[in-house]
Amino acid sequence: MAKFRSVEELVKQLRPVDPVYCYRKDSIKSATNWFNTNFEGKVLYAVKCNPNEKVLKTIISCGIENFDTASLEEIKLIKKLSINARIYFMHTIKNSKSISEAYFKYDVRDFAFDSKDELDKILKSTNNAKDLNLFLRLQTSNEHAEIDLSKKFGATVNEATHLMKLAQSCAKKLAVSFHVGSQCMNPISYSKAIKDIGLLIKRTGITPDIINVGGGFPTTYPDLYPQPLKNYITEIEKGIRRLNLNKKVELVCEPGRALVAESGSTIVKVELRKKQNLYINDGTYGSLFDAGQPKFIFPSKAIQPDKNFTKRIIPYSFFGPTCDGLDYMKGPFNLPSNIKQGDYIEIGQLGAYGISMRTKFNGFYSSDIHEVEDSPIMSIYNADENNNIKTLFA
Ligand SMILES: *Cc1c(COP(=O)(O)O)cnc(C)c1O
Repeated sequence: MAKFRSVEELVKQLRPVDPVYCYRKDSIKSATNWFNTNFEGKVLYAVKCNPNEKVLKTIISCGIENFDTASLEEIKLIKKLSINARIYFMHTIKNSKSISEAYFKYDVRDFAFDSKDELDKILKSTNNAKDLNLFLRLQTSNEHAEIDLSKKFGATVNEATHLMKLAQSCAKKLAVSFHVGSQCMNPISYSKAIKDIGLLIKRTGITPDIINVGGGFPTTYPDLYPQPLKNYITEIEKGIRRLNLNKKVELVCEPGRALVAESGSTIVKVELRKKQNLYINDGTYGSLFDAGQPKFIFPSKAIQPDKNFTKRIIPYSFFGPTCDGLDYMKGPFNLPSNIKQGDYIEIGQLGAYGISMRTKFNGFYSSDIHEVEDSPIMSIYNADENNNIKTLFA
């Protein structure tokens, strides 16, 4: 499979009828290097974010050896690609068969839970194994996140007090984890969550062996420019220092979005234009789920292999290819005013939660995936007049 110097080159050569997903190895490399260098602990990649094999192989080649998974299929996929990988089964609600198979067949030893029933299930499904690392997930405030996970997962500090004591008696290593919500726009969420762990330690008299600060590390979108990622690390370190722990705890993080978002984009084709609505060949049942209900605004750019668009930029909304009215992406997506049927658009920041959400609904599905070597589209948005590119990885 050929790689292309740029998306323009790709469109020129392929004139694709179906949506094409593009990934950039350099972007994945710099993001993983950044986390491996700046985070003082284990960096787990959250597989659900982008489980494409080419992307996973790139992540593995960049030195990521630990993976946060939620299902047996994800576990099998990682095992197939790397026999040395350490796999963490971090969904707090699992079925017994998956737990057994993960433990006995795939050597998984790290499991998450947020209730007594789940803890019992883990113990029973592993024949009361003595070598389990148990991750108690705390419910923490998701107030600064774009995607809230706190209503679905996690035990309150009150509930966790009892669970912590139960888990201590059967775990090889005891861990406490949390997730501040995805695309967390304020680093303070991490130190607040760590403070909750402090409360739990005080109430139980138990210091965990591992603290897992989860995912939530942000990327940039046209309307969302968070603080540099360094500030998130500083806030985590500050939170841990304030706990005044009586022993050394191991730190773990589980970034998804921040590792891969910038690396991916989708090239779509305009099938029809009605005023400022563009009917494109990908949508919310394809790689643009987050542009639908969660209303993420993705950066967009008209691709001009051989034609010139006007400099006048206007806002558009998109309709996807399926027959569902919900297949609508409000945007605004800023594009040239003379864009029309047959033109190609690149939609960026889709390396995370893009192709992983594709369905075959209505018969629309594309598995065209290519490597490209140009800069991610967001670098255009984040460049100043002197072409210096602002980056969160500074
Ligand atoms: C989804 C998920 C992640 C990754 O979250 P991001 O916001 O993409 O970094 C990490 N941990 C768990 C348990 C998750 O469910």
